[in-house]
Amino acid sequence: MSTLIYWFCNDLRLADNPAFTQACLKADSLLPVFIHDSKEQETVYGFERLGLHRKAFLRASLDDLKAQLRAQGSDLLEFSGQPSEVLLQLLKDSAADAIYCEQIEAPEEIEQVRMLQEQGADVNEFWQSSMLDPLTLPFELAKMPDVFTAFRREVERAQLKFAQPINAPKKIPSLPAILSQASMLPTTAQSVSHPYLLGGASHAQAHLKQYLERRLPDSYKETRNQLIGMDYSSKFSAWLALGCISARDIAAQLSDYENRYGANDGTYWLWFELLWRDYFRFIHFKYGQKLYRASGLTGVPVKPSYAPSFEQWCTGNTGTDLVDAGMRELHQSGYLSNRMRQIVASYWIYDMQGDWRAGAAWFESQLIDYDVYSNQGNWLYIAGRGTDPRGGRPFNVAKQTQDHDPREIYRKLWLSS
Ligand SMILES: Cc1cc2nc3c(=O)[nH]c(=O)nc-3n(C[C@H](O)[C@H](O)[C@H](O)COP(=O)(O)OP(=O)(O)OC[C@H]3O[C@@H](n4cnc5c(N)ncnc54)[C@H](O)[C@@H]3O)c2cc1C
Repeated sequence: MSTLIYWFCNDLRLADNPAFTQACLKADSLLPVFIHDSKEQETVYGFERLGLHRKAFLRASLDDLKAQLRAQGSDLLEFSGQPSEVLLQLLKDSAADAIYCEQIEAPEEIEQVRMLQEQGADVNEFWQSSMLDPLTLPFELAKMPDVFTAFRREVERAQLKFAQPINAPKKIPSLPAILSQASMLPTTAQSVSHPYLLGGASHAQAHLKQYLERRLPDSYKETRNQLIGMDYSSKFSAWLALGCISARDIAAQLSDYENRYGANDGTYWLWFELLWRDYFRFIHFKYGQKLYRASGLTGVPVKPSYAPSFEQWCTGNTGTDLVDAGMRELHQSGYLSNRMRQIVASYWIYDMQGDWRAGAAWFESQLIDYDVYSNQGNWLYIAGRGTDPRGGRPFNVAKQTQDHDPREIYRKLWLSS
């Protein structure tokens, strides 16, 4: 009899989840768990790593997953603590043979797995969060091109679009009999939901369906730099971040859409942006921990300056209207357009001479779509400490205001609320 633990992380779905499917195939009994990391409660900057909007989206996503597992006679058990410690205890309590989970190639997650393995745990990780399968790339990840355009050209030359998604497992093994309920979490948590972005795989699929049915990909290229509303960009990011839907599933449905209505600039541009997401993932295999140094890949030190101007930036009280509107939108809704993310990040780094790591930490706390690879990658990119050969992306706020909010509609919307 084999008992396995399935450790859900940023893959809160049953469909196209190869790691979970493998666990289901291998186990006679399976214990699906989610662990609320106790480290999520603190940052060196004095705010929570998991802000209210993120908590709400996570809660809804876990409830959705739990309901799907229960519908198949299983369940999701939630625990709180240091993940490797909780898992080691669970291995003991349930007499499980091994842990299955998705692979996350970021320092803290790598460390958790290392600690588990050091204690003799058998951990089976599966890479599954990218649109492309890294094994099909025409280069080794350790030698991937540093510059995005070179990376994209090689991917296009090899005619890679996406790896085929797989179905949800047909049967989920039953729960093991012996379970310690002592450290299980109650399912209520204080949180604020985004009015439209609701967590969970069911909402992710419903959102994608309506996005495609309303033919919004066709206008994506023209609208993607706008600032107000649900439709100017896809809003896939929050569901992707927690894995409520996979990038492969989105790409496959986008490909069906192209077969039906024809490919166009909009559908290409959406794929192109999903490729940026892959790029920031894959670059972690090449540079790893180096991406988390203050100097990034450059060796240029950072002056750690964040107070008191940091508070002005976070709360949207810098005195620069466009930046303040953006920072208030972020805090009030947990979301910000890509254009505004670039503008406020650049303002913090170049105009306020702030430490990019503090800015990245605030985004981590606030963004419902917080994703370790994309957040780190984009902040490094703007700060000129990543792989961008241009060495930094300062944005001229006056020009951005003129280009993107000439009639003051966006500023009025967020500054008056
Ligand atoms: C400073 C900064 C921090 C960021 N932090 C995050 C983060 O924590 N999580 C996150 O998902 N995105 C992050 N982004 C990237 C981007 O802003 C968001 O992915 C996008 O705005 C999400 O909205 P959308 O789903 O409507 O995107 P769309 O414009 O509809 O794009 C479709 C998808 O492509 C991917 N994508 C688009 N742009 C990027 C990009 N620049 N980098 C990586 N992937 C991209 C996303 O998965 C997105 O859902 C950050 C950008 C900046 C400038």
